[in-house]
Amino acid sequence: MKLAIVIPCFNEQEVLPEIAKRLKELLQDLIKKNKISESSYILFVDDGSTDETWSIIAEFHQNDKLYNGIKLARNVGHQNALLSGLHLAKNKCDAVISIDADLQDDIGVIEEMIDKYQAGSEIVYGVRSSRKTDTIFKRATAKIFYRIMLFLGVRTVYEHADFRLLSNKVLLELAKFREKNLFLRGIVPLIGFKSEKVYYKRGKRFAGKTKYPFSKMIKFAMDGITSFSVRPMRMIFMTGIVILFISFLSFIYIMISYFRGGNIAGWTSTMISLWFLGSLTIISLGIIGEYIGKIYSEVKDRPLYNVEETLLDSSKE
Ligand code: UDP
Ligand code: MG
Repeated sequence: MKLAIVIPCFNEQEVLPEIAKRLKELLQDLIKKNKISESSYILFVDDGSTDETWSIIAEFHQNDKLYNGIKLARNVGHQNALLSGLHLAKNKCDAVISIDADLQDDIGVIEEMIDKYQAGSEIVYGVRSSRKTDTIFKRATAKIFYRIMLFLGVRTVYEHADFRLLSNKVLLELAKFREKNLFLRGIVPLIGFKSEKVYYKRGKRFAGKTKYPFSKMIKFAMDGITSFSVRPMRMIFMTGIVILFISFLSFIYIMISYFRGGNIAGWTSTMISLWFLGSLTIISLGIIGEYIGKIYSEVKDRPLYNVEETLLDSSKE
Protein backbone atom coordinates (compact mmCIF):
# COMPACT_ATOMS: atom_id res chain seq x y z
CA MET A 1 0.00 0.00 0.00
CA LYS A 2 1.37 3.35 -1.06
CA LEU A 3 0.83 6.03 1.56
CA ALA A 4 1.05 9.78 1.08
CA ILE A 5 1.21 12.20 3.98
CA VAL A 6 0.03 15.72 3.23
CA ILE A 7 1.11 18.56 5.50
CA PRO A 8 -0.01 22.17 4.99
CA CYS A 9 2.66 24.54 6.25
CA PHE A 10 2.41 28.26 6.78
CA ASN A 11 5.53 29.82 8.27
CA GLU A 12 6.53 26.62 10.00
CA GLN A 13 10.31 26.85 9.82
CA GLU A 14 10.68 26.05 13.52
CA VAL A 15 8.79 22.77 13.39
CA LEU A 16 9.56 21.45 9.92
CA PRO A 17 12.85 19.69 10.70
CA GLU A 18 11.28 17.95 13.67
CA ILE A 19 8.14 16.66 11.96
CA ALA A 20 10.20 15.62 8.93
CA LYS A 21 12.53 13.61 11.12
CA ARG A 22 9.77 11.97 13.14
CA LEU A 23 7.67 11.09 10.12
CA LYS A 24 10.63 9.60 8.33
CA GLU A 25 11.35 7.34 11.29
CA LEU A 26 7.73 6.33 11.41
CA LEU A 27 7.48 5.60 7.69
CA GLN A 28 10.69 3.59 7.74
CA ASP A 29 9.32 1.57 10.60
CA LEU A 30 6.07 0.95 8.73
CA ILE A 31 7.96 -0.05 5.60
CA LYS A 32 9.95 -2.52 7.66
CA LYS A 33 6.72 -3.96 9.03
CA ASN A 34 5.47 -4.28 5.46
CA LYS A 35 2.47 -2.09 6.21
CA ILE A 36 3.27 0.44 3.53
CA SER A 37 5.30 0.29 0.35
CA GLU A 38 8.67 1.90 -0.19
CA SER A 39 7.15 4.30 -2.68
CA SER A 40 5.23 6.03 0.13
CA TYR A 41 6.04 9.68 0.56
CA ILE A 42 5.55 12.93 2.41
CA LEU A 43 4.09 15.96 0.65
CA PHE A 44 4.56 19.38 2.19
CA VAL A 45 2.34 22.18 0.97
CA ASP A 46 3.91 25.57 1.48
CA ASP A 47 0.96 27.90 1.83
CA GLY A 48 2.70 31.10 0.75
CA SER A 49 5.04 31.26 3.72
CA THR A 50 7.18 34.33 4.18
CA ASP A 51 9.89 32.61 6.21
CA GLU A 52 12.35 29.84 5.32
CA THR A 53 9.68 27.14 5.02
CA TRP A 54 10.06 26.57 1.29
CA SER A 55 13.85 26.52 1.23
CA ILE A 56 13.80 23.95 4.04
CA ILE A 57 11.36 21.78 2.07
CA ALA A 58 13.49 22.13 -1.08
CA GLU A 59 16.57 21.09 0.83
CA PHE A 60 14.79 18.03 2.26
CA HIS A 61 13.74 17.04 -1.23
CA GLN A 62 17.30 17.41 -2.50
CA ASN A 63 18.64 15.02 0.08
CA ASP A 64 15.82 12.51 0.25
CA LYS A 65 13.07 11.84 -2.29
CA LEU A 66 10.80 10.73 0.53
CA TYR A 67 10.18 14.44 0.98
CA ASN A 68 8.22 16.30 -1.65
CA GLY A 69 6.60 19.66 -1.76
CA ILE A 70 4.42 22.12 -3.56
CA LYS A 71 4.69 25.82 -3.11
CA LEU A 72 1.50 27.78 -3.48
CA ALA A 73 1.89 31.18 -5.07
CA ARG A 74 0.24 32.94 -2.14
CA ASN A 75 -1.33 32.23 1.22
CA VAL A 76 -4.73 30.66 0.58
CA GLY A 77 -5.50 29.38 4.07
CA HIS A 78 -5.28 25.99 5.70
CA GLN A 79 -8.29 24.38 4.01
CA ASN A 80 -7.34 25.33 0.48
CA ALA A 81 -3.68 24.45 1.07
CA LEU A 82 -4.70 21.04 2.34
CA LEU A 83 -7.00 20.58 -0.61
CA SER A 84 -4.24 21.37 -3.10
CA GLY A 85 -2.18 18.60 -1.51
CA LEU A 86 -5.07 16.15 -1.66
CA HIS A 87 -5.69 16.96 -5.30
CA LEU A 88 -2.05 16.37 -6.09
CA ALA A 89 -1.95 13.06 -4.22
CA LYS A 90 -5.02 11.80 -6.08
CA ASN A 91 -4.12 8.72 -8.12
CA LYS A 92 -0.59 8.95 -6.79
CA CYS A 93 -1.24 6.82 -3.71
CA ASP A 94 -3.61 4.25 -2.24
CA ALA A 95 -4.41 6.42 0.74
CA VAL A 96 -3.46 9.81 2.06
CA ILE A 97 -3.17 11.04 5.62
CA SER A 98 -3.44 14.77 6.26
CA ILE A 99 -1.82 16.19 9.35
CA ASP A 100 -0.84 19.61 10.71
CA ALA A 101 2.81 20.58 10.70
CA ASP A 102 2.97 21.52 14.36
CA LEU A 103 2.94 17.98 15.82
CA GLN A 104 -0.22 18.66 17.82
CA ASP A 105 -1.70 15.58 16.25
CA ASP A 106 -0.16 12.37 17.49
CA ILE A 107 1.67 10.65 14.64
CA GLY A 108 1.69 7.55 16.83
CA VAL A 109 -1.84 6.67 15.68
CA ILE A 110 -0.93 6.66 11.99
CA GLU A 111 -0.20 2.94 12.17
CA GLU A 112 -3.65 2.32 13.62
CA MET A 113 -5.16 4.37 10.79
CA ILE A 114 -3.41 2.18 8.25
CA ASP A 115 -4.58 -0.97 10.00
CA LYS A 116 -8.15 0.30 9.84
CA TYR A 117 -7.69 1.10 6.16
CA GLN A 118 -6.39 -2.40 5.53
CA ALA A 119 -9.42 -3.74 7.37
CA GLY A 120 -11.67 -2.03 4.85
CA SER A 121 -12.28 1.56 5.97
CA GLU A 122 -12.05 4.21 3.30
CA ILE A 123 -11.97 7.08 5.81
CA VAL A 124 -10.31 7.09 9.23
CA TYR A 125 -10.90 10.13 11.43
CA GLY A 126 -8.40 11.17 14.04
CA VAL A 127 -10.44 12.22 17.05
CA ARG A 128 -9.06 14.11 20.03
CA SER A 129 -9.87 12.29 23.22
CA SER A 130 -8.38 15.13 25.20
CA ARG A 131 -7.37 18.64 24.36
CA LYS A 132 -6.21 19.78 27.74
CA THR A 133 -3.28 21.57 26.16
CA ASP A 134 -5.54 23.94 24.27
CA THR A 135 -6.59 27.13 25.99
CA ILE A 136 -9.99 27.24 27.69
CA PHE A 137 -10.95 29.89 25.19
CA LYS A 138 -10.11 27.70 22.21
CA ARG A 139 -11.99 24.75 23.68
CA ALA A 140 -15.05 26.85 24.52
CA THR A 141 -15.23 28.49 21.10
CA ALA A 142 -14.74 25.12 19.40
CA LYS A 143 -17.60 23.67 21.44
CA ILE A 144 -19.93 26.53 20.54
CA PHE A 145 -19.01 26.04 16.89
CA TYR A 146 -19.81 22.30 16.96
CA ARG A 147 -23.11 23.02 18.70
CA ILE A 148 -24.13 25.62 16.12
CA MET A 149 -23.17 23.32 13.27
CA LEU A 150 -25.23 20.52 14.74
CA PHE A 151 -28.20 22.83 15.25
CA LEU A 152 -27.94 23.92 11.63
CA GLY A 153 -27.99 20.33 10.51
CA VAL A 154 -24.36 20.05 9.37
CA ARG A 155 -22.91 16.67 10.22
CA THR A 156 -19.34 16.90 11.46
CA VAL A 157 -17.30 14.49 13.54
CA TYR A 158 -17.02 15.82 17.07
CA GLU A 159 -13.46 16.67 18.16
CA HIS A 160 -12.08 15.82 14.77
CA ALA A 161 -10.02 18.39 12.91
CA ASP A 162 -8.16 17.68 9.71
CA PHE A 163 -6.10 14.71 10.83
CA ARG A 164 -7.54 11.88 8.78
CA LEU A 165 -6.88 9.10 6.34
CA LEU A 166 -8.66 9.12 3.00
CA SER A 167 -8.40 6.33 0.47
CA ASN A 168 -7.78 7.16 -3.15
CA LYS A 169 -11.41 6.24 -3.83
CA VAL A 170 -12.52 9.03 -1.52
CA LEU A 171 -10.06 11.44 -3.13
CA LEU A 172 -11.67 10.74 -6.49
CA GLU A 173 -15.13 11.46 -5.08
CA LEU A 174 -13.86 14.56 -3.30
CA ALA A 175 -12.60 15.93 -6.59
CA LYS A 176 -16.21 15.95 -7.81
CA PHE A 177 -17.10 18.67 -5.33
CA ARG A 178 -16.42 21.71 -7.41
CA GLU A 179 -17.61 24.35 -4.96
CA LYS A 180 -15.26 27.12 -4.03
CA ASN A 181 -15.97 27.20 -0.30
CA LEU A 182 -14.99 23.66 0.48
CA PHE A 183 -15.39 22.86 4.16
CA LEU A 184 -13.62 19.52 4.44
CA ARG A 185 -14.88 18.62 7.90
CA GLY A 186 -18.42 18.77 6.57
CA ILE A 187 -17.81 17.37 3.09
CA VAL A 188 -15.96 14.22 4.12
CA PRO A 189 -18.79 12.83 6.28
CA LEU A 190 -21.18 13.86 3.50
CA ILE A 191 -19.39 11.70 0.93
CA GLY A 192 -20.16 8.59 2.93
CA PHE A 193 -18.13 5.35 2.69
CA LYS A 194 -17.15 3.06 5.50
CA SER A 195 -15.37 5.08 8.15
CA GLU A 196 -13.66 4.50 11.46
CA LYS A 197 -12.15 6.63 14.20
CA VAL A 198 -8.89 6.52 16.06
CA TYR A 199 -8.43 8.41 19.30
CA TYR A 200 -5.43 10.41 20.41
CA LYS A 201 -4.41 13.03 22.89
CA ARG A 202 -3.83 16.40 21.31
CA GLY A 203 -0.49 17.77 22.33
CA LYS A 204 0.99 21.22 22.49
CA ARG A 205 2.29 22.99 19.44
CA PHE A 206 5.90 21.85 19.11
CA ALA A 207 7.23 25.30 18.24
CA GLY A 208 6.10 28.51 16.63
CA LYS A 209 2.82 30.32 17.06
CA THR A 210 -0.70 29.34 16.10
CA LYS A 211 -1.59 30.39 12.57
CA TYR A 212 -5.23 30.60 13.53
CA PRO A 213 -5.83 33.87 15.33
CA PHE A 214 -9.34 34.67 16.52
CA SER A 215 -10.22 36.55 13.34
CA LYS A 216 -9.36 33.52 11.18
CA MET A 217 -11.32 31.25 13.52
CA ILE A 218 -14.42 33.41 13.09
CA LYS A 219 -13.98 33.40 9.32
CA PHE A 220 -13.52 29.63 9.33
CA ALA A 221 -16.67 29.15 11.38
CA MET A 222 -18.72 31.51 9.22
CA ASP A 223 -17.49 29.78 6.06
CA GLY A 224 -18.32 26.40 7.50
CA ILE A 225 -21.84 27.45 8.35
CA THR A 226 -22.71 29.44 5.26
CA SER A 227 -21.23 26.89 2.89
CA PHE A 228 -23.39 24.17 4.33
CA SER A 229 -26.65 25.42 5.63
CA VAL A 230 -29.57 27.44 4.35
CA ARG A 231 -31.22 27.18 7.74
CA PRO A 232 -30.32 30.74 8.79
CA MET A 233 -32.31 31.96 5.78
CA ARG A 234 -35.19 29.70 6.61
CA MET A 235 -35.24 31.19 10.08
CA ILE A 236 -36.18 34.55 8.53
CA PHE A 237 -39.36 33.01 7.16
CA MET A 238 -40.26 31.46 10.50
CA THR A 239 -39.65 34.80 12.23
CA GLY A 240 -42.07 36.40 9.76
CA ILE A 241 -44.74 33.84 10.60
CA VAL A 242 -44.27 34.39 14.33
CA ILE A 243 -44.55 38.15 13.91
CA LEU A 244 -47.65 37.71 11.78
CA PHE A 245 -49.18 35.79 14.64
CA ILE A 246 -48.20 38.54 17.08
CA SER A 247 -49.75 41.07 14.74
CA PHE A 248 -53.09 39.23 14.92
CA LEU A 249 -52.93 39.39 18.69
CA SER A 250 -52.05 43.06 18.65
CA PHE A 251 -54.87 43.66 16.15
CA ILE A 252 -57.34 42.29 18.69
CA TYR A 253 -55.77 44.35 21.46
CA ILE A 254 -55.75 47.51 19.34
CA MET A 255 -59.41 47.05 18.31
CA ILE A 256 -60.46 46.51 21.90
CA SER A 257 -58.77 49.69 23.03
CA TYR A 258 -60.29 51.48 20.01
CA PHE A 259 -63.83 50.53 20.97
CA ARG A 260 -63.19 51.38 24.58
CA GLY A 261 -62.30 54.83 23.33
CA GLY A 262 -59.56 57.12 24.49
CA ASN A 263 -57.12 56.32 21.71
CA ILE A 264 -55.20 59.21 20.21
CA ALA A 265 -56.43 59.85 16.66
CA GLY A 266 -54.35 57.91 14.15
CA TRP A 267 -52.84 55.46 16.67
CA THR A 268 -55.15 52.59 15.72
CA SER A 269 -54.43 52.63 12.01
CA THR A 270 -50.71 53.29 12.50
CA MET A 271 -50.29 50.37 14.90
CA ILE A 272 -52.24 47.92 12.74
CA SER A 273 -50.35 48.76 9.56
CA LEU A 274 -47.04 48.72 11.44
CA TRP A 275 -47.46 45.13 12.54
CA PHE A 276 -48.97 43.84 9.34
CA LEU A 277 -46.46 45.48 7.06
CA GLY A 278 -43.65 44.34 9.32
CA SER A 279 -44.63 40.70 9.15
CA LEU A 280 -45.35 40.97 5.44
CA THR A 281 -41.86 42.33 4.79
CA ILE A 282 -40.15 39.62 6.77
CA ILE A 283 -42.22 36.84 5.19
CA SER A 284 -41.39 38.22 1.75
CA LEU A 285 -37.70 38.22 2.61
CA GLY A 286 -38.08 34.62 3.75
CA ILE A 287 -39.69 33.63 0.46
CA ILE A 288 -36.93 35.32 -1.49
CA GLY A 289 -34.49 33.54 0.80
CA GLU A 290 -35.98 30.18 -0.18
CA TYR A 291 -35.26 30.92 -3.82
CA ILE A 292 -31.77 32.16 -3.07
CA GLY A 293 -31.27 28.91 -1.16
CA LYS A 294 -32.20 27.01 -4.30
CA ILE A 295 -29.81 29.07 -6.40
CA TYR A 296 -27.15 28.47 -3.77
CA SER A 297 -27.44 24.71 -3.98
CA GLU A 298 -27.59 24.76 -7.79
CA VAL A 299 -24.52 26.93 -7.98
CA LYS A 300 -22.66 24.58 -5.66
CA ASP A 301 -23.28 21.86 -8.20
CA ARG A 302 -22.56 19.12 -5.71
CA PRO A 303 -22.57 15.54 -6.97
CA LEU A 304 -25.96 13.99 -6.28
CA TYR A 305 -24.39 10.69 -5.30
CA ASN A 306 -21.02 9.10 -4.74
CA VAL A 307 -20.48 5.55 -5.91
CA GLU A 308 -18.77 3.14 -3.57
CA GLU A 309 -18.68 0.01 -5.74
CA THR A 310 -19.92 -1.11 -9.12
CA LEU A 311 -20.52 -4.69 -10.14
CA LEU A 312 -20.82 -4.43 -13.86
CA ASP A 313 -20.03 -7.14 -16.33
CA SER A 314 -17.50 -5.92 -18.89
CA SER A 315 -19.83 -6.84 -21.77
CA LYS A 316 -22.26 -4.22 -20.49
CA GLU A 317 -19.85 -1.38 -20.95
N1 UDP B 1 -1.85 26.64 7.97
C1 UDP B 1 -1.79 26.87 6.59
N2 UDP B 1 -2.23 28.07 6.12
C2 UDP B 1 -2.75 29.05 6.92
C3 UDP B 1 -2.82 28.80 8.31
C4 UDP B 1 -2.37 27.58 8.80
O1 UDP B 1 -1.35 26.02 5.83
O2 UDP B 1 -3.11 30.11 6.41
C5 UDP B 1 -1.36 25.34 8.50
C6 UDP B 1 -0.35 25.45 9.61
O3 UDP B 1 0.96 25.54 9.10
C7 UDP B 1 -0.56 24.15 10.37
C8 UDP B 1 -2.05 23.90 10.18
O4 UDP B 1 -2.46 24.69 9.07
O5 UDP B 1 0.14 23.07 9.79
C9 UDP B 1 -2.87 24.25 11.41
O6 UDP B 1 -2.55 25.55 11.85
P1 UDP B 1 -2.29 25.87 13.39
O7 UDP B 1 -1.57 24.74 14.03
O8 UDP B 1 -1.64 27.19 13.48
O9 UDP B 1 -3.77 25.96 13.93
P2 UDP B 1 -4.28 25.55 15.42
O10 UDP B 1 -3.76 24.20 15.70
O11 UDP B 1 -3.73 26.59 16.34
O12 UDP B 1 -5.76 25.59 15.28
MG1 MG C 1 -1.94 23.53 15.57
